[in-house]
Order: sequence, then C-alpha cells, then structure tokens
Amino acid sequence: MKKSLFIIAMAVLVLSSCEKKTEETDNGLFTPAIEDFDYVVDRFADIEILRYRVPGIENLSLQQQEMLYYLSEAALCGRDIIYDQNCRYNLAIRTLLESVYTMEGIDTTSADYKAMEVYLKRVWASNGIHHHYSGMKFEPGFSQAWFETQINQLPFEKLPIYSEGISRDELFAEILPVIFDSTVMTVRKNQAEGADLLLTSACNYYGEGISQAEAEAFYSAMRTEGDETPVSYGLNSRLVRRDGILVEDVYKTDGLYGSAMSKIVYWLEKAEKVCENDAQRNALQKMISFYRTGDLKEFDEYAILWLKDTESLIDYVCGYTETYGDPLGYKANWEAVINFKDVEATKRTEKISGNAQWFEDHSPVDSMYKKEKCKGVTAKVITAAMMGGDNYPMSALGINLPNADWIRATYGSKSVSIDNIAEAYAQSVKSSGFNHEFVVDAKTEELLSKYKEITDNLHTDLHECLGHGSGKLAPGVSPDALGKYHAVIEEARADLFGLYYVADPKLVELGLLPDTNAYMAQYYSYLMNGLMTQTTRIKLGDNIEQTHMRNRQLIGKWVLEHSAADNAVELIVRDGKHYLVVNDYTVLRQRFGELLREIQRIKSTGDYNAARDLVENYSIRIDQDIHREILARYATLDMAPYKGFINPVLTGHFDNDGKFTGLSISYDENFVNQHLRYSRDYSFLKK
Ligand code: ZN
Repeated sequence: MKKSLFIIAMAVLVLSSCEKKTEETDNGLFTPAIEDFDYVVDRFADIEILRYRVPGIENLSLQQQEMLYYLSEAALCGRDIIYDQNCRYNLAIRTLLESVYTMEGIDTTSADYKAMEVYLKRVWASNGIHHHYSGMKFEPGFSQAWFETQINQLPFEKLPIYSEGISRDELFAEILPVIFDSTVMTVRKNQAEGADLLLTSACNYYGEGISQAEAEAFYSAMRTEGDETPVSYGLNSRLVRRDGILVEDVYKTDGLYGSAMSKIVYWLEKAEKVCENDAQRNALQKMISFYRTGDLKEFDEYAILWLKDTESLIDYVCGYTETYGDPLGYKANWEAVINFKDVEATKRTEKISGNAQWFEDHSPVDSMYKKEKCKGVTAKVITAAMMGGDNYPMSALGINLPNADWIRATYGSKSVSIDNIAEAYAQSVKSSGFNHEFVVDAKTEELLSKYKEITDNLHTDLHECLGHGSGKLAPGVSPDALGKYHAVIEEARADLFGLYYVADPKLVELGLLPDTNAYMAQYYSYLMNGLMTQTTRIKLGDNIEQTHMRNRQLIGKWVLEHSAADNAVELIVRDGKHYLVVNDYTVLRQRFGELLREIQRIKSTGDYNAARDLVENYSIRIDQDIHREILARYATLDMAPYKGFINPVLTGHFDNDGKFTGLSISYDENFVNQHLRYSRDYSFLKK
C-alpha cells in the first residue's frame, strides 16, 4: 500500500548513442511527439537512464507555470538530504569522486578512470554508495592506489571537509575504507533476521552505536495507550546519543539539515504567493510551518489540508514521506514529485472510483467480507514535471499518501498514477526484443503490443483506487493479525482485485477498454512476469525478497498449480526454452477470482497459518533450472534491469522588475551534466 513502487520487471534494448536533440531548447513550453523523442539517454552497470516528456505543460496558465517553477526549485534543493540519510559518508564520497572526475588534465582514457566513471554514475543513480534496490555496497572497479594518486593532487578546496580541522590524511584514512573495504558499511538497510538491524546497517537515521533495542525502547515509550490520533513518532529526526542520553536531532530549518531546508522553504514561500486557491495555500503554508518547527502535529495537520486540496491542477510531494529506508520504519526519507493533473486521463480513475460500490458488490469474495458502503479512493492521473530526493533518479509509478493510518481512516488518501513516467518505461521496452524472446507466439506478441500499455495502466488504477480499499475485517480481527506475511498478502489482494476486474465487460461499458479481448494482454504479461521474467533481476541461487515480486510469483504459481487438471495455464518447453501458454482465458479469470476470494478470507479472518503457507510455498523460492535458463536468455538481449530518469530542465524567466514572464522547458541535458549541475547549484549541506 502506501507508495507503491511499481518498479517494472522488464527491460529495454539499449540504444547505444542517443545524440539526437530536440529542436527547440530554451525558448518556451512545448512537448515533443513520442515518435521524435529518444527515451534512453544513458546506460551503465545494471541501469538504464530514461528521459520523460511533460505533455500538457504548454497548457498551464502563467500563474501555474510560476508555481510549478518555484516548487521545482524546492524539489532540487533537498537533493543532499537523501544522500546523507542513506549513509553519512555519501556526500563526502560524491564530492571526492566529482572532484577527481572533473580534474583538469586527468587521463580520461585509462581503465581506472572509466571504472570510476561507472562507479560515480551508480552513486548518482542510487543517491549514495549502496545499490538503490538491493542495498548492497557497490564494488569499485578502480584501484585504491590509482584513486589515492588522484586525490593527493586535488587542491584542498576540492576536498570534502565534513568536520572542522580534519587533515587530508585523516580524511582519506576515514573515507577510503568506506569505498574500498567490502566489509565496511556493506549494506544500507539490513533486514536479516537475528541481527541488530541498526548496528549492521549503513544508513544514517540513527547515531553510531545505537542499538535496535535502545531505539525501539525509546520510541515505544513515546506512545500513549489509547491515543487514537498518534503522530508519526521519530519521522523527522536522527536519534543520537548525547552525554549518554538518547535525544532526537530534529530535521527543521534551524536544526539538522537546516541549511538545505531553508532553501526549500525559500522556494515554497514564493510558490505560496502564487497558489491557485485557498485550499492549496492552506496546505502549503502548513507545510512551510512544519519545515520550520519540525512539530509532527503540524505534519499531520498539513497532511489533512493537503488531502482537502483536490481542485488544484498543480500538486506536490515535497518532504519527509516514506519510511522504507529505516530498518525500523520510523524515519522518513526526503523526496519530491512536482506535478500537475492530467485532466483527460483522470476521467479514467474518476470513473473507476465513482463505481467503487458496483465493483465491491460484484466481486467474487464472500459477502460477509464485503464493504456495505464503499468509498473509492480519490484518484488522479498526474504528469510529473520535476522529481527529487528519494524519488529521483529512480521513480515510483504510483503514489498513495498520506501514510498515517488514522488520517487515512478519517480523511482518506490521495492516490496518483504518474502516467508520463509509465510512458517512458513502456516506450523504452518497445522494440527491445524482450517480448519476442519470452512470449510464446506472434499472435500473443501482437496482443501485448496492442493492449499491454493500456491494461497496465488500468490494472494499476484498479489496484490503487479499489483493490486496497476493498473488503472488510471480520469483527474483532486485528489488522496486524497476519504479521510479517501481511504485506505480500495485501499486495496480492489488490493485484487480484485488479486482475479479476480488468477482464470485466463493465470496463468496456465504461469506455475504459476498447474491447473485451484487451484484458488478455494483461493476463498473459502479468503471469509471464510473475512466473518467469521478473526473476531476471535476481541472482541465481537467491530467493525473492521484494514484496511486489513475491506477490506476483505467489499468484502465478498458485494459478499454474491449480490449472494442472484443466490446463487453462501451462508452462511448455520448446527448443529447450520455457514459455507460458494460456489456453483458456475465461477459466483463468475464474481462477484469479477463486484466489481473491481465499486471500480476502485470510485477511478478513486473520488466518495467519494460511497466509504463511501461501507466502512460504508459492512466493519465495525460484525453480533453479528455469531461473538459469531465463537469465541466459535475458543476457542475450543486453538489457538493463533497472531504469532511472533525468529531469527536464525548467527555466523561469523574469523581467527587470523581477516579475515572472514565463517558463521554458528543455530535454537536452544528459545524465552526467545534470548531476554535475545539481552538485554545483543545489549543494547545501556540509560535505
Ligand atoms: Zn499496492
């Protein structure tokens, strides 16, 4: 739930050089056509960097352009925060690497330099020295001796000086092992059972030497029994030990990260003056106040005001938001998505939400676990115009906020799909050869090329707007009854709700799908992904760890196993390669319905044992022989399993009196130049 990271398990053909430039540059707002747009801009290690278009930006009013511009600047000003949150050496290492990378006269053709360039690009892509997805520290492909030779030549002002009076030797003695010694700060967020999750994690949400037990005791002492509107304790601070006592260093303009947050506030205050309406202004003012005070009560007040701002075109996430980075889940990373509503596409989600009760009433789950009164989540489709912090360069495709349970229960939540990011993913995959390799025949390939994108979007909408909100618990069942199996079961439930309904003629009737065959593309690609191709992102021998990947395999394997008798779905082998075959789409839909019914029962009754059996039996282990084969086939395609993004360049124009005269957009910047520019212009924390 919360923010869904629909990181797509598919990949793309690499266009080795994408030098083609868009014709217009810095003189206005325009949107290039899809056919004329090169989505892929860079490729290194396991990552491909894409650009995204911002269609519709040319339709914003001058005032909306101005607001978008100020918010976009705020989004970039928080960049350093996420680096520091991920690991306390990230900023120093980034600075050191950039200094060497741009050093005058350095031999840029040497193998060491080239390897360092890859390493630096990976640091930019992950906001630090640990892999954005696995959390493991990158191995430097360049030698320590070479690197030391280079940094010894750097003038002192090019060095990161993160503490007063530190000498060159002390600095290097501290930093070099963090880069080169694989046993130092190995993993950003350790999740291994039995370990002290804080002492073994490299992230920087807790001071050195603070144990998991201490932190847990600190925060459980804050809770008041019976408090029905608790603040999100610990959300915006680092827990440190001072004079032997645990205290919080709060993120606020005159506290921790204050120098960056003051810049953010500077831009937010400009945005506040050009708001579209009072609801938008009230929310933004409250957020600014929260940046100043760090008072978590104000954060909740802001979240409620933000939910009430539904009429504005421009919207934003710009602050401490998700808690995935903290092994204990208290502390939020800083992130930003500056966006505006895609009015046309939002009609799609409004139709879905508007019919929430119909979908609830007709679902295959037991009527005692259905909601009598069902409210669809307020949902909209947005166009991202600038991303920052933890949502850049790796972006989510959907966001569902706020996170506080009591606010969601009382005031609801905002659910958004970011369609222009989804477009970039989809376009980069087309003509990659991926479907040709893994899809069973030409007819199915054609089905996918025709309907996959539209049904992917629709499946996401159904999952977000209806799936998570559907159903109810039996009286007396705790929402935490499924314990550590909850997340996978919950995601499976939402996915199944979407799968069941994407095939419903109701969607054609509502004008959301062109015909009653379109859903087959979603069925095929969902199962192919869950059973086979998503494992291209996993090392041979490893299990599936990520929640969404687990739920996809769970659904795939369960359906496959339950189709053994009638062969509605099967895996066949042809020329030594496995392929998915769907023989009966109608039966397949019923089967998704059966599993949805069972999973809703498990959730509604809190059937821990059944949840455990499903998750343990179906979602974790991968068939080694098939996995080996899939990886080999995938390797022949030369594709990158992860996608990152670069932002467009937004420039605000002002007349001599400082009055805003217009916004322009350019898509020309490359990945390297973007990051060097950001480091130059948006670096506000001590390195
Ligand atoms: Zn979800």
